[in-house]
Amino acid sequence: MSDAAMRWQLAGEDGQTSLLEPPGGAVSPRRDLPSVEYLHVQAKRIISAVPPRSRMPFRYTINAYRGCTHACTYCFARPTHVFLGLDGGRDFERRIVVKVNAVERLRAELADPRWTGEHIAMGTNTDPYQPAEGRYRLTRGLVEALGAAGNPFSILTKSSMILRDLDVLQAAAARTAVRVNLSIGTLDEEAWRLSEPGTPPPARRLEAVRRLNEAGIECGVLVAPVLPGLSDGPGVVERTVAACLDAGAASVSAILLHLRPGVRELYMPWLEDVRPDLLDRYAELYARPGGYAPKADQEALTRRVHAAIERHPRPARPGRSWRTGLSAQAARGLPSAPRGGVTPLAAVPAQPALFP
Ligand code: SF4
Repeated sequence: MSDAAMRWQLAGEDGQTSLLEPPGGAVSPRRDLPSVEYLHVQAKRIISAVPPRSRMPFRYTINAYRGCTHACTYCFARPTHVFLGLDGGRDFERRIVVKVNAVERLRAELADPRWTGEHIAMGTNTDPYQPAEGRYRLTRGLVEALGAAGNPFSILTKSSMILRDLDVLQAAAARTAVRVNLSIGTLDEEAWRLSEPGTPPPARRLEAVRRLNEAGIECGVLVAPVLPGLSDGPGVVERTVAACLDAGAASVSAILLHLRPGVRELYMPWLEDVRPDLLDRYAELYARPGGYAPKADQEALTRRVHAAIERHPRPARPGRSWRTGLSAQAARGLPSAPRGGVTPLAAVPAQPALFP
């Protein structure tokens, strides 16, 4: 599909059918990073309501970016780029839509008397700390705005860039419930390099888990997705869980790969390229139309994570127990933010996929 057929409007351009508001200022697409194109748009609204039928444990989300240069092969959000008139493959990784007015919109929407101050989840579609955030600093501005309004929120990310914003996260956590989850699918070097080529190394993400918790920001880990044949080998999941607990994770959950339609068509050719020996296994595992692996496999993963948690030595951490999941925030009398589907120290079977 051509650019002219995109279902939104670039800031500074006229004459296209748009789901977003006409530009308030003249900001042009940037082409100043090699092979990555940033498409600036003006969002009409920035807080999105989750469809009522959704199984997500939150009702509102914010996504300042569409597309993600982290380029995970399995990314559940890839089909959302197709909705924009772009493709879910290379375009998703290299043509990043940036809602340049996200912070300004959020301030206005939080101040609207009709807004009831509900929890807002970030990182539910694409990664709020993907490399673009280093330049645009939209997530930082969103955290500042949510903190200033005392509006509870959570962030899910695969990036250690979140440590840049420790100061604003701490300021927000002093006023409202703040929850972070780092997504760390595996510590296996080869599986990581193959499947998440643009993400920071897992060890850096573990370090972020440790530093966030030490700074009083409740941070758990989503071991997700676990990739059959690539990151589910004997001891592989268990080592990841143990490392997360050692890093002080407030919770650990695992999710088995989900290959929804639109993702499957991109993932399987990749798999054929890198691990053709796994094709038959995947054909069997993901034979059902919805793209979920059989419940028995999901439950087996859950049991492995539970067992790894149970085997792990209990930490001696003053003021906090990862067995109870009691956080420093709870100890201060602030409510804990919803965990984005993460059960403290447990794996959640048949969990809807979250991003990143
Ligand atoms: S899974 Fe998350 S980090 Fe990876 S490409 Fe998708 S949005 Fe980005």
